[in-house]
Amino acid sequence: MENVAEKACELKKTFFKVFGPGAAPETVFAPGRVNLIGEHTDYNGGFVLPCALSYGTLALGRKRSDRKIRMYSHNVTHLGILESSLDDLKAYESDHFTGYVKGVIWAAEEAGFVCDTGMDILIWGDVPNGSGLSSSAALEVSVGLLIKTLFSFEEMTQPQIALLSQKAENDFMGMQCGIMDQFISAMGKEGHALLLNTGTLTYEHIPLVLEGAEIVIINSCVKHSLVGSAYNDRRNECETALDRIRKAMQDGTLAFPASGKLPEGLCELTPDEFEDAAAVLKDEILYARAKHAVYENDRAIRAAEALSQGNKELFGTLMKESHASLRDLYEVSCAEMDVLTDIANSKEYVLGARMTGGGFGGCSVNLIKEGYEEQFRKEVGEEYTAKTGKKPLFYACVPGDGARVIKQ
Ligand code: ADP
Ligand code: MG
Repeated sequence: MENVAEKACELKKTFFKVFGPGAAPETVFAPGRVNLIGEHTDYNGGFVLPCALSYGTLALGRKRSDRKIRMYSHNVTHLGILESSLDDLKAYESDHFTGYVKGVIWAAEEAGFVCDTGMDILIWGDVPNGSGLSSSAALEVSVGLLIKTLFSFEEMTQPQIALLSQKAENDFMGMQCGIMDQFISAMGKEGHALLLNTGTLTYEHIPLVLEGAEIVIINSCVKHSLVGSAYNDRRNECETALDRIRKAMQDGTLAFPASGKLPEGLCELTPDEFEDAAAVLKDEILYARAKHAVYENDRAIRAAEALSQGNKELFGTLMKESHASLRDLYEVSCAEMDVLTDIANSKEYVLGARMTGGGFGGCSVNLIKEGYEEQFRKEVGEEYTAKTGKKPLFYACVPGDGARVIKQ
């Protein structure tokens, strides 16, 4: 969003048109994100390295005197106002984006943050939906911060908003995502990437500066459909692999890792410890999935070090390795995304390109040498269209702050 304050002001007028005159609404903004590296590690207790974007979701809301929840998305105006109630916080097949809104209100209530009146909510966002830049997390986190603001939930912290949002997506929407998307949307910092340990939720903001290089995001314009499908399968496969490793450690067939503790997630194992454990998996698919998680975690740690040291070549190499692993071991890429990253990685001015987000389409993230952006857009754009018939979209990567209240 180029100018959040301006857009918020415009949406305030829309709010009054949609919901009628009355008290001024509160306004909040939550960003989408791009993950630089550390993909599918966030539900395996591993490290991720995302940054929040300037693209995001604005949510405007005011309390009602009854218990109705009235929701309107200015992105899908044809749906009109969709109505629910605090007394009916359940998921229905017919839910649209309203599932995410109700889900967050429900998750907050479960945690003791009870909204005592209904509300009118208007949302609008410029994160492309279903493209791996996490419009769903931006929506959830914006609703979390909105209800905190409206109902003065002083004790609700930003990390807690992230956890409530994840709970909404997991338990209300049935999408078993990890914590990365919601956490970075709540906790992003301008000009920085966030190295997050998803096992402990400890984190460090690292300045996102690689001298002489820049990051470009490309939308393959292939839409993923992840809910309840391949994503949840991968999660189950990782859980089964972990389970077998833990059992072998418990019955003495396998040595404990250096930590001396049973691992709570696959990413607690180093690559060496994992290779020692591999024999107990007894299944090629489980081995491949677990191998991705363990080595991807190692790559995320090394990439964060490379970022701190300004080593753009190493960062790029790790991105390439990450993509190969997601394609071959985790099998969450798709033909178009492989074409897109292959084209990018074939350019001498590209340091590294990989898919980002859950997979099966969506966006790639590219580290390119400074001064080549125009050439990159032209060459990669043309070659991708020639090979796939699809027209890619390019986005700037301007690392922004996490969710915040917009005063107006
Ligand atoms: P991603 O998070 O990668 O963008 P998801 O499938 O997880 O993809 O989430 C996309 C869904 O989020 C959309 O189908 C829609 O239901 C919802 N959504 C997000 N932002 C908006 C918005 N501004 N208006 C309406 N729905 C939205
Ligand atoms: Mg999502």
